[in-house]
Amino acid sequence: MSQFSQHNFANEKALIRVDFNVPLNDKFEITDDTRMRAAIPTIKKILGDGGSVILMSHLGRPKDGPTDKYSLKHLVPHLQKLLNEGSKANTPVLFANDCIGEQAYTTAGMLRSGEVLLLENLRFYKEEEKGDKAFAQKLAKLGDIYVNDAFGTAHRAHASTAVIADFFPKDKKMFGLLMESEVNSAEKVMHKSEKPFVAIIGGAKVSDKILIIENLLERATDIIIGGGMAYTFMKAQGGKIGNSLCEDDRLETARELIKKADAKNVCIHLPSDSTIADKFDANANDSTAPSNNIPDGWMGLDIGENACEQFTNVIHNSKTILWNGPMGVFEMKKFQHGTKTIAKAVAEATQEGAFSLVGGGDSVAAVNQFGYADKVSYVSTGGGALLEYFEGKELPGIAAIKNAK
Ligand code: AMP
Repeated sequence: MSQFSQHNFANEKALIRVDFNVPLNDKFEITDDTRMRAAIPTIKKILGDGGSVILMSHLGRPKDGPTDKYSLKHLVPHLQKLLNEGSKANTPVLFANDCIGEQAYTTAGMLRSGEVLLLENLRFYKEEEKGDKAFAQKLAKLGDIYVNDAFGTAHRAHASTAVIADFFPKDKKMFGLLMESEVNSAEKVMHKSEKPFVAIIGGAKVSDKILIIENLLERATDIIIGGGMAYTFMKAQGGKIGNSLCEDDRLETARELIKKADAKNVCIHLPSDSTIADKFDANANDSTAPSNNIPDGWMGLDIGENACEQFTNVIHNSKTILWNGPMGVFEMKKFQHGTKTIAKAVAEATQEGAFSLVGGGDSVAAVNQFGYADKVSYVSTGGGALLEYFEGKELPGIAAIKNAK
């Protein structure tokens, strides 16, 4: 059992760093509450033990201190609804309109077992992102125990995500349930992968994915490259790619990655064919072509039917699957077939016993959109954090707790 599950929070005030950075529309309605839902089990376990909960988070990127637009007060009614869903308990959610200072301390001090206090946006203080020690210490004073459940910001060395841990003894700081399952899934793929291990990397730009590919060359057996970034690899090998997305300053990098993969016996799979379009538009004319022979004036916007089959076979033969980035412009119906097919293949391979981890904003959106989210082993809530983890970097939010003396 984990440290969190074993801990009895009775009569303790748990200060939890959550990632409530949810999208809001112009009426301040939450358009996707996944991040809030993901933190509920941790909160409920603490309340169930007879503890109380103080939640801290950032929301958006406020530039100049407190701004109504970025106030966490907009989240209070929905948080209350989520906490009381499916239970008779009526958990009150209090709100402090500052994350430190008199009102926050008084409200936190008077908090009773079973109550929840949400603090105002941490990023209203520039000290948060600077990882300011004095600010972290002020936050730490609010709770008896620190719980980090914000995997989405684990790659940031901010006051509330990492620095704060220094102000709690080893037995009074721990991961929450979400953070635990994120870390366990990522570690399983990174360090304990059953082979064959395929990494499916897609999305727009090679430049964003170079470090992850380099690190995965040390671990994966196969790397599938799809999406816009595949065309830089095609051109690097002498292919004709028409108007497809290409980073000309990364051609040499692409050639080097292919060379390194060869040397390490890692098989790089590029899409043999593409669905092409005469413009970047949902209603463009479309056709198919070999990915290395795309006619002038046309661009590859999705992997083609042969590539779908080629990639599906690799996925079905794998025991560990990591998927980051879509295979095409899946936001447009005409160009979503490749991403949908890959989502299906990952779900089928999971059914056959593979462990699959899907992470990164767009691939998560894709598995949700196509109805496969509950058919893969784990869907990560961390975009940038997951990417940095698989680039081989130590994440400050994880290190602050794991490496604590
Ligand atoms: P990223 O944020 O790098 O993971 O890229 C995701 C974006 O890449 C999505 O918005 C896709 O529409 C886009 N994308 C995927 N394939 C292509 C392509 N062949 N051409 C242009 N954009 C693409």
